Amino acid sequence: MSEPPSLPAQPWEVYAIRFSRLHRRRRDALLLCPPATADDPIDMDYSMWVARSGQETIVIDTGYSPELGERLGRTFLCDPVEVVRDLGVEPGSVEDVVLTHFHYDHAGNLDAFPAATIHVHEAELPAAAWHVGEPALAFAYATEHVAAAQAAAAEGRLHLLTGSTTLRPGIELHQMGGHTPGSMAVQIWTARGWLLLAGDASHIAANARERRPYPLFSDLRRTFEDYDALNRLAPDPDLLVPGHEASVIDRYPPARPDLAGRVARLDLPPVDGPSPASPR
Ligand SMILES: [Zn+2]
Repeated sequence: MSEPPSLPAQPWEVYAIRFSRLHRRRRDALLLCPPATADDPIDMDYSMWVARSGQETIVIDTGYSPELGERLGRTFLCDPVEVVRDLGVEPGSVEDVVLTHFHYDHAGNLDAFPAATIHVHEAELPAAAWHVGEPALAFAYATEHVAAAQAAAAEGRLHLLTGSTTLRPGIELHQMGGHTPGSMAVQIWTARGWLLLAGDASHIAANARERRPYPLFSDLRRTFEDYDALNRLAPDPDLLVPGHEASVIDRYPPARPDLAGRVARLDLPPVDGPSPASPR
């Protein structure tokens, strides 16, 4: 029997910051999508997350900069680092940043967090180094993000994870090796139970629900095993937050009325009530 996760004195608040949206087709996000629905439109959102408890703040993923977005032709709904400030968190004083993986859309803006220890799995930077040498795959990483991680390492601020671990009481990091070799899902104790940020172990809800992987992965079999792990860790689908699921930003209450459409409170129940699949 493994040790039960340690619980904090008080539950964590969890904020999803949504900064960009792409309009796609189901076939773009679901491997071997049935032809009848392959051309159905879907949205994919780009987000980062903030967990707060008392004086403690953990930033989970760091998005990417508007400058990189411009190079990629992406429309930004907001600058995610500015939204962190809007939440009352000074990025320069954040002490812990967790990267679910090192893809470009999750590991940018590291220079905005100059005091933070960067927690990332040790398999991620070698994977980035290999991918940037393959022209068809290089888009998934940004060389300036690798340089920023190396700069953090030189300052003793890069913490390489070797597997699943407890970051804090109430924050568990679970290795998911399917999407990238060191992908992490982040499980957080909240007032409504153990919330699971899937990162890109499930981009959208349909990946894990329909068991159809996103068409970019490092280990296909492990991707399916990750779905089993996600469903075991979050048996209630309302506690699973897929990394790019576009329904999240409207399903959960805004952090403040002026942040509607930009920041959702994931530690609060969905505004539309439990989903039909929820056991509650
Ligand atoms: Zn992603």
